[in-house]
Amino acid sequence: MRWENLTVESEHGRADVALFGADAVTTRTFDTPEFRGITFHEIRARSIINRVPGASRMPFEWTVNPYRGCTHACVYCFARKTHSYLDLDTGIGFDTQIVVKVNAPELLRRQLGSRRWQGEHIAMGTNVDCYQRAEGRYQLMPGIISALRDRANPFSILTKGTLILRDLDLLKQASQVTDVGISVSVGFTDPGLWRTVEPGTPAPERRLEVVRTLTDHGIGCGVLMAPVIPFLSDHPAQLRATVRAIAAAGATSVTPLVLHLRPGAREWFMAWLAENHPHLVRRYERLYAEGAYAPKWYQRRITRQVHELAQEYGIGPARAGMPRRIRPPEPADSSVSPAGRPEMSEPTQLTLI
Ligand code: SF4
Repeated sequence: MRWENLTVESEHGRADVALFGADAVTTRTFDTPEFRGITFHEIRARSIINRVPGASRMPFEWTVNPYRGCTHACVYCFARKTHSYLDLDTGIGFDTQIVVKVNAPELLRRQLGSRRWQGEHIAMGTNVDCYQRAEGRYQLMPGIISALRDRANPFSILTKGTLILRDLDLLKQASQVTDVGISVSVGFTDPGLWRTVEPGTPAPERRLEVVRTLTDHGIGCGVLMAPVIPFLSDHPAQLRATVRAIAAAGATSVTPLVLHLRPGAREWFMAWLAENHPHLVRRYERLYAEGAYAPKWYQRRITRQVHELAQEYGIGPARAGMPRRIRPPEPADSSVSPAGRPEMSEPTQLTLI
């Protein structure tokens, strides 16, 4: 997608700007504190249901993405590269230049009604977060969920946004007529790490409150424990604290995913690492020397540790409805720093790389 017929409109007025491309665009800025520094590019999309390329590793075939770019601003976000397809910057531009498909609800309703559409599962939140802050203003998701509910079309949502609770009634209505899968992303609970690496997101504990609220209302909610960040959130004590909090929130499942660093995200993350944790740069270069993914042995180790903890705390579909075995938090000991953050001990395997 490229741009043409761009009209710039802010709360202070309008001006026409010529760019190149195919879609009519209105660009807006807002003066409210939550949107300061953010530019919204409103477009009328031509199609809203996207087919995931066959070669994808993703476990879904169809997606709906009402936004591009994400004010949640996670440093590691793998979707950063998609901003380059729009000739937009993949760093700060991804966090502050948000494309809004303002006709997404009506377009989806039309496409769901097409005779060619077979009613397959639609995944949302798979590229960027559909409950990012922009959704508070544009309110596209109620129309999208309503369209899916009215067609009894199965769907899933992955989010870090607490705003999803605004649509609780709609989600309940949809779940009465079709399969609705909700997952909340919580990779770790360390507050210091959260503030620097996911600066625009609701705090992890607020996301876990979303899990609790959804499950209390009969909508099962899993947690994607992503990303587990090597040397920063992978200490056994950190994994335990995170899984324990996920279990306490009533999650139906926990799925760990180790940080991956594709082009676009890699440069931005490594610059952040150099500024915030310079002593880790060489270790990351070694760990990700083969490409975007951490070595298989590392991924397997994290997966095993999280699965063992999940079993210990009673997370899993087979245990739905059973009381969780949540022990009181362990008292602070010498392995915990004064700031409350476990000291990083070097995983033994890392000496191998
Ligand atoms: S919430 Fe998701 S889409 Fe948004 S910046 Fe973070 S990782 Fe990317």
